[in-house]
Amino acid sequence: MFIDDTIAAIATAPGEGGIGIIRLSGSNALDIANKMFRPLYRDSIGDYAVRTLIYGNIYDEGVVLDEVLLAYMKGPHSYTAEDVVEINCHGGFISVRKILELALKSGARMAEAGEFTKRAFLNGRIDLSQAEAVIDIINAKTDKSHELAQSQLEGSLSKKIKNLREMLTAVLAQVEVAIDYPEEDIEFITYKELIEKTEAIQREVVQMYKTADTGKILREGLQTAILGKPNVGKSSLMNSILGENRAIVTDIPGTTRDIIEEFVNIKGIALKIVDTAGIRDTDDVVEKIGVEKSRKHLKSSDLTLVVLDNSREIDQEDIDILESVDRSKTLVILNKIDLESKLDLDIVKKYVDEINIINISALKNEGLDLLHDRIEDMVFSGEISNSGDVMITNSRHKDAIYKAMKAIEDAISSLNDEMSYDFIEVDLKDAWDALGYINGDTISEDLLDTIFSNFCIGK
Ligand code: GDP
Repeated sequence: MFIDDTIAAIATAPGEGGIGIIRLSGSNALDIANKMFRPLYRDSIGDYAVRTLIYGNIYDEGVVLDEVLLAYMKGPHSYTAEDVVEINCHGGFISVRKILELALKSGARMAEAGEFTKRAFLNGRIDLSQAEAVIDIINAKTDKSHELAQSQLEGSLSKKIKNLREMLTAVLAQVEVAIDYPEEDIEFITYKELIEKTEAIQREVVQMYKTADTGKILREGLQTAILGKPNVGKSSLMNSILGENRAIVTDIPGTTRDIIEEFVNIKGIALKIVDTAGIRDTDDVVEKIGVEKSRKHLKSSDLTLVVLDNSREIDQEDIDILESVDRSKTLVILNKIDLESKLDLDIVKKYVDEINIINISALKNEGLDLLHDRIEDMVFSGEISNSGDVMITNSRHKDAIYKAMKAIEDAISSLNDEMSYDFIEVDLKDAWDALGYINGDTISEDLLDTIFSNFCIGK
């Protein structure tokens, strides 16, 4: 793909701030910058070594627009691998906008969302999984999600994919020899050997696939719903978890009418907490909207916290809620343990395992550590650990891995049945293509556009 125009955009977040940055990339970046900028101590940008910060002014038809620092990074040693100019001007709305407008007037085109990163990919500086990691770094909500994105940007996933595709290529080569020279007396690889080699690839692909659910949670957050009848302490619990008073806490039943969403960092996991009006039946129209939404959220949530009041006997309303949730992703929060217990725990144990019943006092902020530990255990359950291996964090990658996994399964089953090599070749090639989707080797241009449209302008 040939890229010939020069793009420009504001790279810093909108709003007041110390510095704002306008970025240009493309073959005319330097020319355009020279039209707009005069260094204070020398004649032009070319009089300075590349990648030095040059002090000077931006001029629009002889009038100074702003006092700036400008850096010129000659391609391919730049973010996009093209000639890049970055202009550091005063922050705020006006300076950056005026300088951008001037750059556009001087021959640049307004960049589309993610276009700088897209160019870095198209120019071969990074692969697609690395490009996607850039947006993940920007969107990261916890240290853990940041760490995963950083490792992906450094190429941990790219290397893994490259390695798996090389292993597939080696097997494919042997299969192809067998197809091309069926009559010849060369030493063919036996089915048994092929199965062994393909199974080695399969093990790694399956292991990667297993990390995808946890990876997604770490990247996107754990969608969490808090359920319970009125006055059991849902809002209080949410406030304790948040450590600040955001939701309304009140004694009147049903006042937390709508859904409130908050992010909170629990041991590196971004909990996206949804506080709801509860799922009980109600005639109140306003509240019904909240209830409708609650039901929807319950379906899509990764974790459900059912709050019960320890100081009252369990009733039908509590039981209805317990019956409506998915046991495998539910924790029961036994709240108000600072008060005398009147709740029959044996009834609760019918609906959740004992380990998933957590005693707390939202009022006194007690028991929250236990809740945090349990959440961490649930996210990192099974074979997924909180460190180490490459993780699949992106659902696009998960789909690709799944396709590869299925194709490899088919290949192995055909090998076991000693089917013709042509069949096996097709399956192995499918797996190879599916993995290439992740690093962008086998991806269509339409899909690329969709991926980069999720970026911000200027990145
Ligand atoms: P919601 O309707 O489920 O959101 O319940 P709220 O959070 O509004 O709490 C209802 C009432 O219970 C309020 O008066 C809270 O102060 C009180 N409450 C909440 N948690 C506790 C607790 O752990 N101990 C005690 N003693 N009272 C609590």
